Formats: sequence, C-alpha cells, structure tokens
Amino acid sequence: MDQKRRNFLKVAGISTLAGLGATTGLGRLFEGAKPALADNATPAHAADNSGVKAKRYGMLIDARKFREDPSLGEKVVRACHQVHNVPEFPEKRDEIKWIWMTHFENAFPEQPTLYPDHATETAQLPILCNHCDKPPCVRVCPTQATFRSADGIVVMDFHRCIGCRFCMAACPYGSRSFNWRDPRPFIDESTKNKDFPTRTRGVVEKCNFCAERLREGKLPACVEACGDTKAIVFGDLNDPTSELRQMLKQNHTVQRNPSLGTHPSVFYIV
Ligand code: SF4
Ligand code: SF4
Ligand code: SF4
Repeated sequence: MDQKRRNFLKVAGISTLAGLGATTGLGRLFEGAKPALADNATPAHAADNSGVKAKRYGMLIDARKFREDPSLGEKVVRACHQVHNVPEFPEKRDEIKWIWMTHFENAFPEQPTLYPDHATETAQLPILCNHCDKPPCVRVCPTQATFRSADGIVVMDFHRCIGCRFCMAACPYGSRSFNWRDPRPFIDESTKNKDFPTRTRGVVEKCNFCAERLREGKLPACVEACGDTKAIVFGDLNDPTSELRQMLKQNHTVQRNPSLGTHPSVFYIV
C-alpha cells in the first residue's frame, strides 16, 4: 500500500470512528444506497417505519440448469468479472473472486450425503456473497467500509477499507478476496469497464449484487449472462408477487450453512 493511500485511509478511518463519515470515490457510487445505521447489526428494513416494507434483494440459483449446460458457469463468471474489472492474476494464491464455480460438497457442507449421485458429485454450481440479512462481515468492520444498504445489499466502500481483513475472518462463506498485489496491471484493457472503479493493493472486494447496474434499471450481469434460461432469478424477497418469491414458493430451495444464522439472501434449487 503506498504512503498516500495509507495517509488517506488513516484519515478516513479516524473520521468514520469520530462519526464524521465523509465518503469519497466509490462511496459516492453507492451514496443513494447508504443507510444511516447507528447499529450495523440491525437490518435496515427493520428500522423502516414508513409502513411500506423496504426492498430486500435476493437471488435464486437453479443448480440443475448449470448441470444441464456446463458452459453457463463460465458465462456468469466472465460477465461478472469483466463488468467489475476483476483482475486475472497468474498465481492461484492471489486470485480475486466475485462469483465462482464449485462442487456441491463445498457449497453445502451441512448437507453431506454418503452416496452422492453422479451429477451431484461431478457438477459445479456458482457461489458468491450471500448478502446475508445478519452479516457478520458488517459487524466486525471497524471503518464501515462494509455496510448493509437499505435494499439488503451488503456493499463496500473501497476507499474506507484499511485492509484489516476482519471481514474475511468473519465471513463463513469465503466470499471475500484480498488484493495482495496491485490489481490494475492484471485487468484486461480490451474489456475494461471504464465506468466501474478499479481497486488497489490492500483492499478487500466481493460481489455487490450489481448495485451500480440495479440503479440504472439493469439486471445483475450474471443474471443477464444466463439469457432466458432462468438459471439465476433476481428480485425482491419482500415482494410476495415478485418472480423470485413465486419461484421460491414453487420449488424446494436451500441456503448455504443455514445453521450459522446469517440468513443468506441467495437460495439454491439443487
Ligand atoms: S456471505 Fe460473507 S461477505 Fe457476504 S454478507 Fe454474508 S458474511 Fe458478509
Ligand atoms: S478489510 Fe474488511 S473489515 Fe477491514 S476495513 Fe476493509 S472491509 Fe472493513
Ligand atoms: S450479482 Fe453482480 S456482482 Fe454479484 S456475482 Fe452476479 S454479476 Fe457479480
């Protein structure tokens, strides 16, 4: 981390702790979504007293579709990582992941089966940040670089991140990545998204449920990449008429590690 950045982070951290809360850069990108939360552990919609329940964005991933068409996995990862300028480091140990493919047993360690069928054993499904309703990562972040917005999205203000990695230790899903190296030289210039900020060494990052795209009325990039397959359905968990809620009503779904009490907003049909 360079000296200029260290100085900035020091000031930003102190300002935050002092309650001054100045936001810059990406912070401005998420300005509209940023809650005035006194208590990070309190879900934003719980404090809503308008009589109208706030949105709580959620996602349903149909693992069957990813088994039927293995090319879908690559499509969603590429779409997400391109649109968010996720670097491609040559070494696995430096890897930055916003969404990635994994086997059933890694995604659902609480639901082991002694004799898995062939498809369960071999196929992969996408995993990402669960945008938990009770996110431990938010609770431990000392600078509020990670916070839960009023629409249920657990977002990051990269400029406030001091790289302490408390959030990585607290997230039981391994949904966060740390930039051990300067990521900028490892972003493909030919596909770079000029409208989305790049990060720097010493900063944590993760899926943001495409908050910047939602604001423009677009679907998340991974959802769009699935075309009309309905392999991923996105919507408002608080709206009983939403397609997402209808799908949840019609299908048996599971969440990752429900016993941890984090209340993930990502559901799976397995
Ligand atoms: S999955 Fe991890 S990073 Fe995402 S909200 Fe939950 S605890 Fe935080
Ligand atoms: S590393 Fe995580 S916990 Fe630490 S400041 Fe950054 S977002 Fe917050
Ligand atoms: S919702 Fe957006 S940020 Fe999250 S995995 Fe999908 S494309 Fe990436």
